[in-house]
Amino acid sequence: MNAEPVAGSAQVSKLPEGYRTPSQRLADVAARSPILNVTPAEASRLLGEWLTARGESGYRLTQILPRLWQRPVRAWSEARELPAALRTALDAEWPLGALVPEVRRESQDGTVKYLWRLADGEAIESVAIPEGARRTVCISSQAGCPLACSFCATGTMGLKRNLAAWEIAGQVRELLLAAEPAKPTNVVFMGMGEPLLNWPAVATALTVLNHPEGLGIGARHITVSTVGILPSLALLAKRTEQFRLALSLHAPTSATRLALMPIEKRYRLPDVLAALKAFRRRVTFEYVLIEGVNDRDEDLAALAKIAKGAGAMVNLLPLHPGGAPGLVPTPRPRIASFAAALRRRGVEAVARKSRGLDIAAACGQLRILRDEAGGEVPAEAHGDVDEPAGVRELTHRPGA
Ligand code: SAH
Repeated sequence: MNAEPVAGSAQVSKLPEGYRTPSQRLADVAARSPILNVTPAEASRLLGEWLTARGESGYRLTQILPRLWQRPVRAWSEARELPAALRTALDAEWPLGALVPEVRRESQDGTVKYLWRLADGEAIESVAIPEGARRTVCISSQAGCPLACSFCATGTMGLKRNLAAWEIAGQVRELLLAAEPAKPTNVVFMGMGEPLLNWPAVATALTVLNHPEGLGIGARHITVSTVGILPSLALLAKRTEQFRLALSLHAPTSATRLALMPIEKRYRLPDVLAALKAFRRRVTFEYVLIEGVNDRDEDLAALAKIAKGAGAMVNLLPLHPGGAPGLVPTPRPRIASFAAALRRRGVEAVARKSRGLDIAAACGQLRILRDEAGGEVPAEAHGDVDEPAGVRELTHRPGA
């Protein structure tokens, strides 16, 4: 019989030849670096089996493993302590993926921002922020972001794809390879993307960042920042390591939050606050102050109440211009008095400085500048910027 198309059934649209969905691209990218895409324990197992099958001595494993994260190499050919034949076999069997540094910008205040080009053409950002003895690196967990928060530059580009675990932890690995001044002491997931919407890869990256055979950064020095994606928030709370949690709150009531953050429709503030109780550690509330939107006296009173209820400390952030047309930063004196008023109410509150204003360091800004300029950062945006970086430029630090 003649089958009529069922009313309402979707026509399968013709996709361009060679088209790969975001999850297919993610799988392709993960396969480019299989041994950096797993935890150190899993890497040890895979390499151990491989060495045994090749009839190599077990001792080789103790030489190879530190080259993944502790004393990384760009390619196995650089691991001179290994016999040449083994290096060649490693390069063929266990290739090491790299993020290509396309832009490196250094701010007057010492903040350094990277734009990395990924294997499938996507781009992500990381920012290294020196502060006394601390060197905090802010890393991305997704290329783009689906959350569309109204004040955020990354939100305007939508989600391109999730990052593979090796691309997430790899942002810190690349800094070690680039011989940036010293090893990062702290990592925050405050770059592009929502880490808890990419949980499997973020879960592996957290292990790599923290594990002594990985990058060896203390769990208390690693902060996951999230709007509060409830299912993965519960999984993060179950981790035994003492990772820190920052909740991007930005509004003390559901109504105000809804105006800024569409995710409020899906995961409501009272439920997110309730979910924080599963964390044994003290959480931080991130609160970007926007004039007339969330900085009024009634916002202050409501914020103090929920911060006390959650035992949270509050980070007050000046709105970074650039990501937020139509939104006005709260003036500096009001930020200071807002912080003081929270403290008077018994809430630990800190007014943060904006870092890297001169290098478009806010989340997503650098990639947007580059996309808009058709791949070129416009000349006037370069400022004190290094030339689009190759490896050679990366070892050079202006003023160093
Ligand atoms: N999706 C995660 C992590 C990425 S955003 C999260 O929302 O927490 C990292 C932090 O930068 C968040 O607190 C976010 O709200 C903040 N942020 C985004 N745009 C900003 C802007 N224009 N000015 C200041 N902070 C901003």
